[in-house]
Amino acid sequence: MLLIIYTGCALVKWRTTFSICVRLRLEALTHQIQTKLNRMNETLNKYQTATDVYTLLCTGLVCPYCGGKTEYIDSSYVYGRSYGMIYICKPCDAYVGVHKGTDRSLGRLANKELREAKKRAHYYFDQIAKTSLINKIWRKWIPDISNRKKAYKWLAIQLNVDEEFCHIGMMDVKQCDKVVEVCKPFLPCA
Ligand SMILES: [Zn+2]
Repeated sequence: MLLIIYTGCALVKWRTTFSICVRLRLEALTHQIQTKLNRMNETLNKYQTATDVYTLLCTGLVCPYCGGKTEYIDSSYVYGRSYGMIYICKPCDAYVGVHKGTDRSLGRLANKELREAKKRAHYYFDQIAKTSLINKIWRKWIPDISNRKKAYKWLAIQLNVDEEFCHIGMMDVKQCDKVVEVCKPFLPCA
């Protein structure tokens, strides 16, 4: 009888210890998972914020140099004659045009340095995008795609940027220089 009581007590004790161990282990695992999830959320939030800021800059409504609000005026202010509307930050001498017939900015505002960099990037990239050269560089066949779009797709891979944001109008000086660097080797007279 005593033996049965003693065995029963030991069993209860063992089960209690076991359940405590399991509970502690589960708590530790939950904590680990929660920490990982929190870190993932932080990264996602940072990425989201970065994308939001970038998207905002590409609306032309905010100057990327001083952070100030831009003006929406006729381009004759800059060129002496009208080529349509522009978003401008006068103190930074930075501006950008709009898509024809809309108030949609062509990209981010560019100051003198960036305007020069964009010109250089276009000079090299357009020789690939506006000819059939892209099909020699990248032989992959993509149905129903223009050379220009295919060239931008190729460029996005070369620059390791999201295709959605891979437009020279959206780039900074560093990215424009990279465009030159990746395009130049494919051009016969570069
Ligand atoms: Zn500014």
